[in-house]
Amino acid sequence: MSSQLHPQSWGPSDDLPNRLGGTPTLSMPDDWTLSTPWRRAQEEADKGGPINHAERMVFLSGSDSPHRVTFALDGADLLAKCDCRAHQFNDWCSHVASLWWQWVTCEIVVHHLDTGREYPAPPCWLSLNDCTDLPTDDLTPAELDAYLTCDLGDVGVREFARYTGRAPGTVGNLLERAREKTVGEQR
Ligand SMILES: [Zn+2]
Repeated sequence: MSSQLHPQSWGPSDDLPNRLGGTPTLSMPDDWTLSTPWRRAQEEADKGGPINHAERMVFLSGSDSPHRVTFALDGADLLAKCDCRAHQFNDWCSHVASLWWQWVTCEIVVHHLDTGREYPAPPCWLSLNDCTDLPTDDLTPAELDAYLTCDLGDVGVREFARYTGRAPGTVGNLLERAREKTVGEQR
């Protein structure tokens, strides 16, 4: 089974403020691997921690103050927003870079706001260039979870069914409904 799936009891999250609707998705700037935020992300420890399923405080060892960062999966995207000035102007900062670094090194788990699933590493279906606008809004959490995992993540239906303790037919039905809805929305 893919290490990207993390077992947990599923339940929708209530601690997510409505303002998340306007949160930008993560996109890396050109040459981001050479950027100062990316260097700081790897050199400085983060003394912060999670606030709720969508947000974390990031307090880098070279900073004077902590920053509040939204960092959560939504649909097929990663929402990323920081309250610092750098992020306001560049949509990129050391705090977001630090969370990305901590995620790819499996130090933090990131929650999916729709499905409740926890991801201990970036899932393979995650696109950072913001060009995939998947019509996932109409899917139920269970349909979205199956669609992301099986169709976009390329996990077998039987494997996913076994992992989540359901019949393959149940997962198959969820996938079918998800495909009908997403195809119906696309041109
Ligand atoms: Zn920041």
